[in-house]
Amino acid sequence: MTLLGITDHGPATPGAASVSYFMNLKYAPRERFGVRMLYGAECNILVGGALDLPDPVLAGLDYCVVSMHHPPRPSICRNAAERKATDIEQITNDYIAAMQDPYVRILGHCDNTQFPVDYYRIAEAAAANHIIVEVNNASLTPGGYHQVSGIDSRENYLQLLGLCRERSIPILISSDSHGHEGIGSAPYAEALVQEAGYPEALIVNNDPERFLLKY
Ligand SMILES: [Zn+2]
Repeated sequence: MTLLGITDHGPATPGAASVSYFMNLKYAPRERFGVRMLYGAECNILVGGALDLPDPVLAGLDYCVVSMHHPPRPSICRNAAERKATDIEQITNDYIAAMQDPYVRILGHCDNTQFPVDYYRIAEAAAANHIIVEVNNASLTPGGYHQVSGIDSRENYLQLLGLCRERSIPILISSDSHGHEGIGSAPYAEALVQEAGYPEALIVNNDPERFLLKY
């Protein structure tokens, strides 16, 4: 490993770090044990599309991931049968609003069955706003901490990756480790990306230097 990004949850997550933690990341070491470090935030997309950290704070970070979690968002549905068109439209609109924030670089785990979306509109917005789409290992791990059903995440990702591929959208394979044991380990996400036949040149993990230059 040559480059490691750390993005703690934004302050709307119960028990998460405060704004002051994120403002002080600029004093953290840029290199640890020979590994270059990036410090960012995984902001919650709140109902209505706002993020839980303001732009002046995001401006001081290396990057920002945006994603949806329950809490702070209410869980919309637990399975495919509960999906409603009005919910899909609202959730998709909120994702798109978040991707339009100029400090947002990465769309995190947009696979969660609790927050159903229109993947066509998500892919269009990711392309328009130069967003990297994350493929999250925790979402795909059996018994992982996001999911109602890992099978739904898998199918959601295959649909999303197909649309991203048509638009040459870069993707990021992420451990979402939540602890030191899983850092750099994303076997389920890697297998899925391989199965989807995603172009190697669009997987940002493959070339950290190019990633740093471009993003
Ligand atoms: Zn998350």
